[in-house]
Amino acid sequence: MSAADTHLPDPERVDTALGVLTGSDLEPIVEMVLLARDGGYEAHAHDGSVRFRRRGPGEAAGDDGHDWAFEVEEVRGRDPLGDTATDRFAPLEAELAHRFPDRTANAYPFAHEQVAQLFDHPAAPDLCVIHTSAHHWAEQGGHLGEHGSLASVQCRAPLVLAGRGVRRRGMVDGRAAQMVDVAPTLLALLGVPPAEDGRGLDGRPRPDAVLAHQDGDPLLDLLDPTERPDHVIGLLLDGTNPNVMYDMAARGELPNIARLMAEGSTLRDGLVSSLPTVTLPNHTTCLTGRHPGHHGILHNAWWDRSRGERVVTNSPATWATAMDDLAPGTDSVHLALRRAEPDALSASINEPADHGAGFSTFDLMRRGVRTDFPRSAEGLPHSSEMFVRPVKDYALFTQVDHHGVQQAVGLVGGEYLGTTYPVPRFLWWNVTLTDSAFHEGGPHSEIARASLRDTDGRIGELLAALDRRGVLERCAFLLCADHGMEESRPGVGGDWSPALREAGLDVRDEAFGFLYLDTLSGE
Ligand SMILES: [Zn+2]
Repeated sequence: MSAADTHLPDPERVDTALGVLTGSDLEPIVEMVLLARDGGYEAHAHDGSVRFRRRGPGEAAGDDGHDWAFEVEEVRGRDPLGDTATDRFAPLEAELAHRFPDRTANAYPFAHEQVAQLFDHPAAPDLCVIHTSAHHWAEQGGHLGEHGSLASVQCRAPLVLAGRGVRRRGMVDGRAAQMVDVAPTLLALLGVPPAEDGRGLDGRPRPDAVLAHQDGDPLLDLLDPTERPDHVIGLLLDGTNPNVMYDMAARGELPNIARLMAEGSTLRDGLVSSLPTVTLPNHTTCLTGRHPGHHGILHNAWWDRSRGERVVTNSPATWATAMDDLAPGTDSVHLALRRAEPDALSASINEPADHGAGFSTFDLMRRGVRTDFPRSAEGLPHSSEMFVRPVKDYALFTQVDHHGVQQAVGLVGGEYLGTTYPVPRFLWWNVTLTDSAFHEGGPHSEIARASLRDTDGRIGELLAALDRRGVLERCAFLLCADHGMEESRPGVGGDWSPALREAGLDVRDEAFGFLYLDTLSGE
């Protein structure tokens, strides 16, 4: 069931809003506007529009397995979603040569699937505004690095697979993965058997699905089926631009990440995050194998029509309970592993998307357990002092990541806060400093690079702990991020709300771009 079936905003208001948003005044900040209506999907840009529909089960042509098939019904002017190339603006030189690309230069990987999944959620917005690459959110703190869009650089995260059970293909060109592929890939490495009654992206039974609902596919071309790891380590470096990370690794600035890359396969075209390409929806996608429109963590904030209330998941006050909003029946890597191996330790470090984990930092927080969180960032190892002192967030997230690596090293070593543990079968660690620093200075700044160097040092601590425990050679690693990060252009800012208000539309705008047209009046 799609949002279009259950909720119909006034068509006149929709058309008025589309006219304003794709008008010339907002052209510098609005790339396109997405919506679902009359059983199909539409993308509208300043210079053209497209209408397409998703074929029903059984209508899919060929041997696409469980993927959706789409049919373009009408194009007027230029098709805003006409370019779905996955290799645009990679590697770093290509990105630097095309800063602030406009809509005619950008590409939108997996665009039709991205749009359709979003509108499967009953709380999907009436209109989803995609901002331009250049758009600088001056009002929201003036970040020089941004993400959230459907376009190449903002949706592209790094992906490195390494160690036991992984093929050593080095840097792989011409192959992008999707965020929904991460969970099935982790479970393939763990050797977890198919779920009972598993279902695929199209909702039909899928006999090889390892998750109860599985939108993606395991990256079998990167795995070596002749060997299987005893332990699988997942590292999510929030907000890391892959072009920058790969370049630094090649220059010898990230020796531990470079070591992983040397012992496995890295995707140059990266890991394409799901729309909206923001943090919590994609952390959840990573660990559940479902798109945001399906797992239910739709955005960092959204409007729930059925409850008549605003839902905010991505804030320090709500991270610990964010998974309360998961759609019923949503599976996870942790749950699937523990179904197959009830005694296995499945650990989640500093990760709000901890559904089903046996050990979780956020579970300790929910239970009010006192941990060894450092009082200050001063003097912590692997911390760039030149940024720790002047930049408050750099200091805070240095503390958070130090705490994370202490937990990971403790678990691997067999003891944390006086409790003993077996070596985790699956250990997932969410690194937060990178996102903060890449936002602060933009992806090509010294502060962003410093955050990766510091993080690489902490990864080295974890590798050393695995080595001390004698299990390093039996581990597989998956290193990724949750979304990309693109340089924004100061001066290209502003918001669409004043223009909409001027046209008589008092819309609700959640998380900057999720527009609800008829929630304010009459409530
Ligand atoms: Zn993020």
